[in-house]
Amino acid sequence: MGVTAPSVEVDRDKCVGAGQCVLAAPHVFDQGEEDGLSFVLAGAPGPGDDPGIRDAAARCPAGAISVADEPANGEDA
Ligand code: SF4
Repeated sequence: MGVTAPSVEVDRDKCVGAGQCVLAAPHVFDQGEEDGLSFVLAGAPGPGDDPGIRDAAARCPAGAISVADEPANGEDA
């Protein structure tokens, strides 16, 4: 316990570079300059802190974004 696992992931094999995720949650997602594929920014807030993440997952036309539930804030090891 106490280990923070990535709670938001982009499957870059599915991503088609539509950019909906970046529009929905610009503090969480960015697109590679060369391949245009989305990735999760380092230090990005989790889905509990940015409702745009779930919006991004819902808007992604490729179903490339997976969001895992996080433990509530303050829950510790
Ligand atoms: S919305 Fe989906 S397909 Fe579009 S860039 Fe983001 S992850 Fe890729």
